[in-house]
Parts: sequence; structure tokens; C-alpha cells
Amino acid sequence: FWQWLKEYCKRNGLLTLSVFAVLTGCILGFMLRNQNLSTQARIYFSFPGELLMRILKMLILPLITSSLMSGLSSMDSKACGRMGLLTVTYYLWTTFIAVVVGIVLVLIIHPGSGTEMEGHRLGGGPVMTSADALLDLIRNMVPDNLVEATFEQYSTDLVPMIKNTEKTIESNYVYIMPDEKNPKLGRPVFLELTPAPQILYKSVPGSSRQMNVLGIVIFSAIMGLLLGKMGERGAPLINVCQCINECVMKIINAAVWYFPFGIIFLVAGKIVDMQDPTSIGKKLGMYALTVLAGLFVHGLILLPFFYFLLTRKNPFTYIRGLLQALVIALATSSSSATLPITMKCLLENCHVDRQIARFVLPVGATINMDGTALYEAVAAIFIAQVNDYELDFGQLVTISITATAASIGAAGIPQAGLVTMVIVLTSVGLPPDDITLIVAIDWVLDRFRTMINVLGDAFAAGIIAHLCRKDFPSPDEKPRMSRGMQ
Ligand code: ASP
Repeated sequence: FWQWLKEYCKRNGLLTLSVFAVLTGCILGFMLRNQNLSTQARIYFSFPGELLMRILKMLILPLITSSLMSGLSSMDSKACGRMGLLTVTYYLWTTFIAVVVGIVLVLIIHPGSGTEMEGHRLGGGPVMTSADALLDLIRNMVPDNLVEATFEQYSTDLVPMIKNTEKTIESNYVYIMPDEKNPKLGRPVFLELTPAPQILYKSVPGSSRQMNVLGIVIFSAIMGLLLGKMGERGAPLINVCQCINECVMKIINAAVWYFPFGIIFLVAGKIVDMQDPTSIGKKLGMYALTVLAGLFVHGLILLPFFYFLLTRKNPFTYIRGLLQALVIALATSSSSATLPITMKCLLENCHVDRQIARFVLPVGATINMDGTALYEAVAAIFIAQVNDYELDFGQLVTISITATAASIGAAGIPQAGLVTMVIVLTSVGLPPDDITLIVAIDWVLDRFRTMINVLGDAFAAGIIAHLCRKDFPSPDEKPRMSRGMQ
């Protein structure tokens, strides 16, 4: 066994280092938690982790635009349409299945029964309807200013709008509702203030800021399709995109060696800052277990089963090729930030067709979030159970539809799902303020649901590549493919 372990570590050096980094980060974080580090010390301590996030975020924009534009430009439009349709259908289907798994488990386990926790019962009427959410999604698909879409939004100009500060400061979260004074703010956001509240009016650190990835994906896809139709005239721009894509992949290959170091501080920094775990009672514990069980069933049983059914290949060999991306998802809680590594794993370890991966992955990182959908359904029903609120079958159907929609609208950034939860809660008349009941444990669950989000995108790429193999014959990939996937 030791011999095998040594061989394995040698062959998977980077992966081994990353797993080791997660564990070291946990130990270091728990050791430093009781040391009462000053704000300044925490900022210095988190710096290597912050740098890791910055590297990953820096790569998202060039990766998405160059991948989609160069990938789609070389495709025949009929094949492209078929692939697009298959991708969207597959994404919707698996997200819906994830929601059903969540609903079944939370109804069986019933984590919200008992008297230890009280709901808010605000009854202030719906604050954000599903129609608002749909409009918001479509609004994001059509950015009014493409340059602005690449900037991080929800920036410092929102800070004066913060409401309910006394209440939310305890939990380090500030909850902001959309406001007609600021039409750009289409959806409610949680801003995580670490550590709050001293820096409240200085800046808004934390991860809730995002660029409009969906808008960029849509624009790049259209550009790619049009460039492909332009023939000779489009060739120079296609070449530029291909060069950028190659360079980005080279940067990723070099940057991954920094990641294990960054992961240690990213994980440790989060543990140092987290709320006291003793406040997590039995109900919340059962709720967390329900979400984790659902993620396990969906990610390690159902998705592999679909993969096997549709491709007849070993899904666990496929997952092995993705381990590096899964560790990064665990460490960063962001499927968008993990995208560069997911792409690297798919191309180098799983040998998925380049053209397919370049389309399916960026689209998936934006709209396909099985883990988030499952969690939203479980959380909404858990909150209903805590409030002793009986949900009828129609309301369960509403939850399944809104949870699917809310996960599509959620950005691939940390705890975005917690924000879009408002849509699910208000759709069945539950108090949106009850989100605070699950905030304490959300950052942990977020890491695991992000892993399943990434896994879902990667499985989709493998399946679509298999189903569209006749449309995209790539002779030079064939011998490697059979070796890698047996
Ligand atoms: N953190 C998740 C992701 O990036 C989104 C969420 O569920 O909050 O995929």
C-alpha cells in the first residue's frame, strides 16, 4: 500500500500538495482562531490567499472570451446549434433532478422540526418576485455597456445604502435590497464584511462583487459564431483569440504551482474569521447533513450514473482527472474562479474535445449550478419547517421551479446562492429575513455545493462531447481519449 501511495503521490504531485494545503490550512486556522489576531494581522495573514483569488479572477475574462470566440468560430453552425441545444437541455434536466433529490431528502429527514430555533415571521409581503428574477437574468444577458460588464459590480457606491446595519453586523453580513434609487442593483446582495464593522464605510471587501459573466458569455458566443461566418476577413481576429487562449492556458499551467501555498492561507483565513461554531445547534446540524447527503447522492451517484449511461465510460476515472479542480472549488467557493483549472483538467486529464469544452464549460460555470439548486430547495423547505409552515404539493412544485431558476441566476461566486434564495422564499410566502437562520453554516456548505457545481459542468462537457462526437471528429484526440478514459 505504501509503495502504491508513494507512486500515486509522485504522479499526482500538484494534487497531493493541494489536498495537503487544504488540511494544513484547516489546522493552521483552528490554531490561530483563539489568538485574537488584530484586523491588520488578519489582512496580512490572508494576503497569499487573496493573491490566489486575484490570479484566478484575472484569468476568467480572457479565458471566457478567447475560448468562446475561437471555439465557436471554427464550428459549423448546424453542429453548433445541436451542441447548444443539447447543452442547455442537459443543464436544465440535471439541475431539476438535483432539486428533486434535495426536496425528497429534506422531506424525509425533516431537519427543521423541534423548538430550538424560531423563525422571523415577518409577513411583510414578497420583496422580490420570480418575475423580477427572470427580468434580472435577461437584463444580465444583455449588458448595456460591455466594458462595464467586465468590472466588478456592487462596489463602494452601494455602501451608504446599507440598511438594518445594527442587526446584521453581528453576523458580518449586510443585506441590501434592490432600490429604485440605484437601478443598476437588480438583485438583493449580501456583502460579507470581514471583519465587520470597522471597515463598513471604507470599502466593501469580500467576494460578493462580481462581473457580469453571463453577459460576457452571450456576447462572446455571438461574436464567435459571426466570426466563423466571415471567412478570410474574420481570420485575423480568430488568430488573436487563439493566441490569447494559448497564453492563458500557459499562465494557468505556471500559476497552479503557486496555488497550494495560496490555498493554505485562503482556508486558514476563512477559519480564523468564521463565527463561533458553538452557535450551531442540532437543527442547523441536521440541515447541513441533509444538504451534504443530497450533494453526495447527486454528485457521486446520479451524475456518474448519467455519465455512464450516456457514454459507457467509467465516471470515476473521469472524476479522478478532475480532482485538482474540485480541490480549488473547495478552497475558493467559486465556480467562476475555478473555471481555468476545470478547463485545464478537462483538456489535459479527461481529454475532452477542445471545441466542446470551450463552449460547455464557460456556459456551465454561469448557468449550471446543480449544487446550488439542491441547496436552495433544501434551505427553503428547512425554513418552512422551522416556521411550522405546511407546504402543499403546489408550493413544492413552485420551490422546485424557482430553485432551478434561482440557481441559473446565481453567479459563480462565493455564497451567491444565499442571495438568490430570496426568490425561492418569497415565491411561497416565507420571510426572506429567515436567511439569517442558515448564514452561520453557509460558508461551509458553499464549498461543497461549489464542488458539485464544477463537477456538473465537467460531466456535462464529457457527455456532450460524446453525444456530439460525429459532429466534431478530432482525429488527433482519438488515441489519447481512449487511453485517458478507459
Ligand atoms: N459558490 C457557488 C459557486 O460559485 C454559488 C453558490 O451556490 O453560492 O458555484
